[in-house]
Amino acid sequence: MAGFCCAPPLGAPRRNQLSTAPDTEKASLPLSDFRPRSMLHLPATRVERPRFPVIDMHTHLTWTRDVRNGVSVGEDIDVFATPDALLPVMDRKGVKTLVNLTGGTGAGLESAIAQFDHAAPGRFLTLTEPSFGLFAEPDYPQHQAEAIDHAHRVGARGLKLLKTLGLYLREGVDEGELVTVDDARFDPMWEACAGYDMPVFLHISDPEAFFLPADATNERYEELAQHPDWSFYGPQFPGNAELLAARDRMIARHPRTTFALMHVGNHAEHLAEVARTLDRFPNTMVDISARIGELGRQPRAAQAFFDRYQDRIMFGTDAVPAPWGNEVPQQLFCDELYEIYYRFLETDDEYFDYAPADVPPQGRWSIYGLKLSDTILRKIYHDNAARLLGIAT
Ligand SMILES: [Zn+2]
Repeated sequence: MAGFCCAPPLGAPRRNQLSTAPDTEKASLPLSDFRPRSMLHLPATRVERPRFPVIDMHTHLTWTRDVRNGVSVGEDIDVFATPDALLPVMDRKGVKTLVNLTGGTGAGLESAIAQFDHAAPGRFLTLTEPSFGLFAEPDYPQHQAEAIDHAHRVGARGLKLLKTLGLYLREGVDEGELVTVDDARFDPMWEACAGYDMPVFLHISDPEAFFLPADATNERYEELAQHPDWSFYGPQFPGNAELLAARDRMIARHPRTTFALMHVGNHAEHLAEVARTLDRFPNTMVDISARIGELGRQPRAAQAFFDRYQDRIMFGTDAVPAPWGNEVPQQLFCDELYEIYYRFLETDDEYFDYAPADVPPQGRWSIYGLKLSDTILRKIYHDNAARLLGIAT
């Protein structure tokens, strides 16, 4: 009966004489208006510049213009910002190089490389993307391998796949069954990349919560309310585990190709699982872009992960310049974004925002700094990406 004596007797009024009725008006505050401020009094360290020069190996400075049902089908690109607009922020924040992952294909790719890589040598590197617009053609595998030849010839430093593969690309491009990540028609593409020593940057799947009902139990409810198209819940989509398993089957078939798994392998919620992937495939690395919200809310697990995989983790932000970046605060290219990443990696500050926004955009929590050693910081900020991209260290 321990503890039972404290329970009110059955039938007793639920409140004593001194308590008041709940304030129903206050209790019905919409979630979107709730902006609590932490009352913790703690050190807040501003890190204006990183300990070592930074390669941000995950940004989006250009984007293919013609997108049909989530699949890029053309070559024309939109340019989000000029080097002149980006370089002052880079110089202030100690960013040596931005890697633009979405350089597109063909003429668009050539234009992106001319506008960035050639305009400011060493400050910008551009990657190509698959020519999914050609996917419905019968000789796609050959076309695709040739597109990689072309991309390499004009100076692309790697190949980037958006989550298109696994979640949007369908037979006939926009109708029929989803094409699986381990589809053999891409084998010549993965092998062409290996032949040219071009790393493949893979975004497969998405956060686990995006595959669950966007209901009151979903920890990313507000984010999914803001971006309903980010929900992949339903019979028309594979699950997160299924997508990652297909990815792993594909990687197993291509041991000569190096795969950089974006967003901590898109499983930062489950670092033990990411560790298993890294252990199983020596030809894989990860970046931390847009996942400090996940890493920073499990600081002890994250510290152990950085310790163990310090040679295989790369710095990235997923930054997108304004005005496009305004839609996603955790990705907005600005001084503050970099300062948050540096604070997370370099300090032992506690309980701070992971994005420059009033309301934490990915979920209602705060993060804790990792205070990584100089040895690890140098690798994460620069040396691991430099090795992958063939840049002098
Ligand atoms: Zn990205």
